[in-house]
Amino acid sequence: MEKQPSDYDVIIVGGGLVGGTFAACLARDPAMRIAIIEKFPVQRMDDENLMHPSYDARNTALANGTCHVFDQLGIWQAIRSQSAAIKHIVVCDRGGFGRSTIDAVEENVRALGYVVENRWIGEVLNRHLDTLQNVSLLTPAEVQALEYIDEKTVEVTALVDGKPVVVRTPLLVIADGAQSATRRFLGIEAQKTDYGQTAIVTTITPEMPHNDQAWERFTATGPLALLPQTDNRMGITWCLDNDKAAALMAATDEEFLEELQKVAGSGPGRFIKVGKRFTYPLTLTLSDEQIRPNVVVLGNSAHAMHPVAGQGLNLSIRDVAALTQLIYDAREQAVHYGDLAWLNRYFQQRKMDQAATVQFSDKVVKLFSTDKPSAVAARNLGLLAFDLLPGAKRFLAHYAMGRAAPTLLPEVVI
Ligand SMILES: Cc1cc2nc3c(=O)[nH]c(=O)nc-3n(C[C@H](O)[C@H](O)[C@H](O)COP(=O)(O)OP(=O)(O)OC[C@H]3O[C@@H](n4cnc5c(N)ncnc54)[C@H](O)[C@@H]3O)c2cc1C
Repeated sequence: MEKQPSDYDVIIVGGGLVGGTFAACLARDPAMRIAIIEKFPVQRMDDENLMHPSYDARNTALANGTCHVFDQLGIWQAIRSQSAAIKHIVVCDRGGFGRSTIDAVEENVRALGYVVENRWIGEVLNRHLDTLQNVSLLTPAEVQALEYIDEKTVEVTALVDGKPVVVRTPLLVIADGAQSATRRFLGIEAQKTDYGQTAIVTTITPEMPHNDQAWERFTATGPLALLPQTDNRMGITWCLDNDKAAALMAATDEEFLEELQKVAGSGPGRFIKVGKRFTYPLTLTLSDEQIRPNVVVLGNSAHAMHPVAGQGLNLSIRDVAALTQLIYDAREQAVHYGDLAWLNRYFQQRKMDQAATVQFSDKVVKLFSTDKPSAVAARNLGLLAFDLLPGAKRFLAHYAMGRAAPTLLPEVVI
């Protein structure tokens, strides 16, 4: 077995959107050595047969704070080149009278967010990681064992490209997604709530220009989001009861478009084309623990939520920024950053934003995915109130922009 005493300052298991971004943030300090242990080989845009679990067909609405972090990494311009700005959001209830609009100009921002395909974010991020001397990508790889060597060191045994490799670190970061095998290795349990819904993700072309407008439409079977994309396309995330989603996956393109059109209403205009459809089962997964001595659980491994409010990645990037800062601070002060008390500072700093964001997404799903008359009335009145009350509307706008708790946003000095 190959023994690698060459310790890394941080080892990240899972090089998806969150693990990859975290590695790039840490790597801004050239003295730091970072390893990413990633199960899947790096995927390139031109390889259509591969479907990487993180850099896939989804469209992600990036909040301004996330764009700011990518900007600090020097990759925002490349990501922006394949993204569409959201200038307006219309939130409405199918068949109801409630409707709220959020406008970038009213909020004093150039855009409420930017929509990018995950595949493109992955391409840009991986190209960037390739250029970093202090990041080692161990792939295709899987962790086989984890062991505490002493109070300050975790040893990771992994199979990398078929060869056993042993690496040591003062901080292991678990970012291998909601089903995290690494979390289970440490015996960290997670609480799961199955929403009984599946998201169908695809792209459509509307007949009319989308005018940088996003639509969030609530129906009794679940929410439908239409996000503006480049080339006048719109990204669809349609969350439905599982059986309805299965039926729509089996439908022809024409049948699918007809159903989608009925639910979307006349606002976005007529749809003339639909792309390939993909499905994602929707479950709220919350890790029982996010920190242990020399260990942090990050991204979907820590909190994977319903995509209704487009918050999952944006929340995790706020976590990433906070953790990066804390590690930098520890190194400056010569503190062991794997120390539980030090890591607890990170958790204390982030837990309110995490709880508020998770609860917001969860409550929106429950309130809006029912046709009980009382709930219909409540949400219609709610949407009207949001439109009429500037304070309430600003609150909704803050969520839309991923700034649910602006005062909790960490100082991003990465
Ligand atoms: C339909 C849908 C739409 C969404 N839209 C938005 C949105 O608009 N805005 C937003 O902010 N968020 C959105 N999200 C949430 C966002 O996609 C997630 O928050 C994000 O993907 C989390 O990234 P991650 O890197 O933590 O996990 P993942 O994306 O799951 O990545 C995990 C990584 O770990 C690797 N891995 C897995 N197992 C192992 C192993 N055993 N060993 C090593 N590596 C492993 C995987 O290959 C992958 O690279 C959406 C989610 C869904 C389902």
